[in-house]
Amino acid sequence: MDSLQQTTAMDETLDPPDWADVQALSHRIIDDAVGYLRDVRDRPVWREMPAEVRTFFNAPMPREPAPIADVYGDVARNVMAYPMGNIHPRFWSWYMGSSNFTGALGDFLAAIQGSNLGGGNHAAGLMDSQVVNWCKEMVGFPASAGGTLVSGGSMANIIGLTVARNAKAGVDVRERGVGAIPRPLRFYASDQVHSCHRKAMEALGLGNRALQRVSTDSDLRIDVDALRTAIAEDRAAGFKPACIIGTAGTVNTGAIDDLQALAALAAEEDLWFHVDGCIGALIAIAPQNRSLVAGIEQAHSIALDPHKWMHAPFEAGCALVRDASAHRNTFAVTPEYLESTPRGLASGQWLHDYGLQTSRGFRALKIWMALKEHGVEKFGRLIDQNIAQARHLTGLIQAEPALELTAPTTINIVCFRHRLDGASEERLKAFNTEIMLRLQEEGIAALSDTTVHGRHCLRAAITNHRTRRDDLDLLVCETLRIGKEIAAAAPSD
Ligand SMILES: *Cc1c(COP(=O)(O)O)cnc(C)c1O
Repeated sequence: MDSLQQTTAMDETLDPPDWADVQALSHRIIDDAVGYLRDVRDRPVWREMPAEVRTFFNAPMPREPAPIADVYGDVARNVMAYPMGNIHPRFWSWYMGSSNFTGALGDFLAAIQGSNLGGGNHAAGLMDSQVVNWCKEMVGFPASAGGTLVSGGSMANIIGLTVARNAKAGVDVRERGVGAIPRPLRFYASDQVHSCHRKAMEALGLGNRALQRVSTDSDLRIDVDALRTAIAEDRAAGFKPACIIGTAGTVNTGAIDDLQALAALAAEEDLWFHVDGCIGALIAIAPQNRSLVAGIEQAHSIALDPHKWMHAPFEAGCALVRDASAHRNTFAVTPEYLESTPRGLASGQWLHDYGLQTSRGFRALKIWMALKEHGVEKFGRLIDQNIAQARHLTGLIQAEPALELTAPTTINIVCFRHRLDGASEERLKAFNTEIMLRLQEEGIAALSDTTVHGRHCLRAAITNHRTRRDDLDLLVCETLRIGKEIAAAAPSD
């Protein structure tokens, strides 16, 4: 007995030696977190890290313990103080959501419960399926469709495109591989398609060239006639047209392909119709703008991104596949160590059968809690609000002679640039890039830049529930001020 007690006393654990201590620290962390989010507007959107912060991350691997309060102090000083900035009301770079406090609580509770969503008979698994069902309902998919929560839109697209490849290959790709596909498959998307589709084609073993980029019209939407021609030419040349990828909200300008026309063409040509809805699928819940994505409900598969316009803390993407068995047949494997039992823990659904991951995090909780708290209608209104704000910004730019729009504004992305009389494209690019960098470095606003049909421009993607119209007024004022300052310092070519 004595020796047994001794051994027990020596067994280590990661649990705290004193729960009261961590409780006090946890309260402090929560207080800090509430203040952090409450006061976000008062801080710069972004700032460069000083040398000592960079150096901090070169510290050697810790071998000895440190008090948790000191560990938190390090995080507060060196990490929390230098964020990317996407929770700030004037962050409009690239395309990402602005998170929310309830979602953060969800992430915390998910980690506390610690469940693995690979599957099994437990509450988190049911909630994961429920959130996927809600996503189906949002985009008008039938309840019988398949779906899975994944890390983000890139993975959600890979899921959809993998099912498309296997469904259209004409051979058992899972057994025989892509080398056995008799006629090379061709996928089609507009020249505005997101880069993750290229990665998907490469990862699927089809190669980048299997993704045909079809030209776009002046609104940056896929040219459906050009697409029809490309399909016919490929068939004549011995390829097998397999899949049309429609984009509901392109990353450059927010253009939305004519999804109804694409659905009809896919049906006519017997192709898979996948919609990359990472930006725009959720417009389907926005009362004033939902008609923009009409036709999305006809897709065979959809990728959407709750960590964008639903503001879930990273990461959360969702892949939906109309034919649930085609979805499952693409990924399901049942090794002997993951067999179901009639009762007990292993009697639930194996959620890993719908994607590439085995272990899966409890992403559903952060989405579920925020949806329950606010209701889906509010999320829809927030999408409408961002679109109205983008129209407001568009109006300001049109009214300002020193600025010009470089693409039509369809949804919440505004592409524009500062004019510079008589300047070459090259000089305009340098000038506008400098404006963008100063806006970031002065902590005023975060924009990104892109090139649309050969013209470089600044780009404001307003996916932000904290943005107010006066933030956009400020953006225009500060862009003009900085433009004047740069022009004054370097008056001519
Ligand atoms: C953001 C985006 C993606 C990639 O999604 P992630 O969540 O960043 O992986 C794909 N397509 C479009 C149109 C996007 O905007």
